[in-house]
Amino acid sequence: MAVEDKIGLLGRAAQYDVCSACESVHPREAADIGHWVSYAVRADGKRVPLLKVLQSNICENDCAYCAFRSGRDTPRTAFTPDELARLFDELVRRRLVEGLFLSSGVCGNVGRATERMLATVELVRKRYAFPGYVHLKILPGAEEAAIAASLELANRVSVNVEAPGSHRLRALSKHKEIEQLLGPLRTAHRLRTENEKRVSMTTQFVVGAAGESDREILSLTAVLYREVRLSRAYFSAFRPVRGTPLEGHPPTPTWREHRLYQADFLLRQYGFRVDELVFDEMGHLLAGADPKWAWAYSHPDHFPIEVNTATRDELLRVPGIGPQSADDILARRRQGRLRTLKDLGLSPAAARRAAPWILLAGRRPEFQLSLWDAVAEEESGALFKETTGYASHR
Ligand code: SF4
Repeated sequence: MAVEDKIGLLGRAAQYDVCSACESVHPREAADIGHWVSYAVRADGKRVPLLKVLQSNICENDCAYCAFRSGRDTPRTAFTPDELARLFDELVRRRLVEGLFLSSGVCGNVGRATERMLATVELVRKRYAFPGYVHLKILPGAEEAAIAASLELANRVSVNVEAPGSHRLRALSKHKEIEQLLGPLRTAHRLRTENEKRVSMTTQFVVGAAGESDREILSLTAVLYREVRLSRAYFSAFRPVRGTPLEGHPPTPTWREHRLYQADFLLRQYGFRVDELVFDEMGHLLAGADPKWAWAYSHPDHFPIEVNTATRDELLRVPGIGPQSADDILARRRQGRLRTLKDLGLSPAAARRAAPWILLAGRRPEFQLSLWDAVAEEESGALFKETTGYASHR
């Protein structure tokens, strides 16, 4: 197969891997070479174009949701390291991409598939002297030496945990064991700590394919943040693929993915614990209310909060106030007493969300009561009436 055809196939195949929660996938067709560029959004908001591609979509595994599971009838191919490194260099020189995201099916066995990926990135680094961003997937069950080599070459490594726990994973794959996924994350964390490598780590869950709850997903996510200092977890709503065992399984609504990202943000940035989040009786986040609002609504004893004396942690519990705005409010407080919503420096939308929960110099923001009624009416129905099962919400 020609390289142009391979990139069409293996670039499209990589859409199932997530490299940024805000990513938008844009196939950009150049005149002479069909290639796929995805945008990862950095913490500072800059969009970075990446070549996101599989080394191979040939796989010996049997993940029930996957278009490339072994035995499924689909076109298959693989890049040689030389082909892929040369193609990437060409795209960099043409300023079409600024980084590489490389994943792969388990082609042959884990050792051989990993060797091919490492050989590709080695060429990218050494022959083509590319100094920029490389995100390298570590395959399930990878050996310690391969993980160490990945940490030498990449800025970010990831292992897709896919499901929160062994019995959930068993529903997705007869071959994969949870330890083949968690083990490499632990090994990577140990090696980067021992060798003082500044390499970040992420993981990804397939949401809704294994009957798992949001609580299960977020509980494992919190453990990984704590134990292996994961940078991010990504959540990918399940979509059925024709010709797989799960082709008749309903797709996961995207709002579930969205709620998981919101809750994940609360864990990482706001100091929330999983057991503080509000779940329905199935263990799912509420479809009709964002997780922070749901927490505030179910903790009326914490409110209203006096903005002029609240700690940063207390401010962070107020809907509409995030880490940046909490710091900004603390700085504004040093200039004088905050008396009006305008003094908080929030956007109008954020001020509207915060108003029902705060006091300003001992007084409720003037239009708080009407706001409270409007917001409570809007959100409480969703919060308390629509918690009987996420599948029925939309
Ligand atoms: S390991 Fe599983 S998810 Fe990855 S390519 Fe193979 S079958 Fe698909």
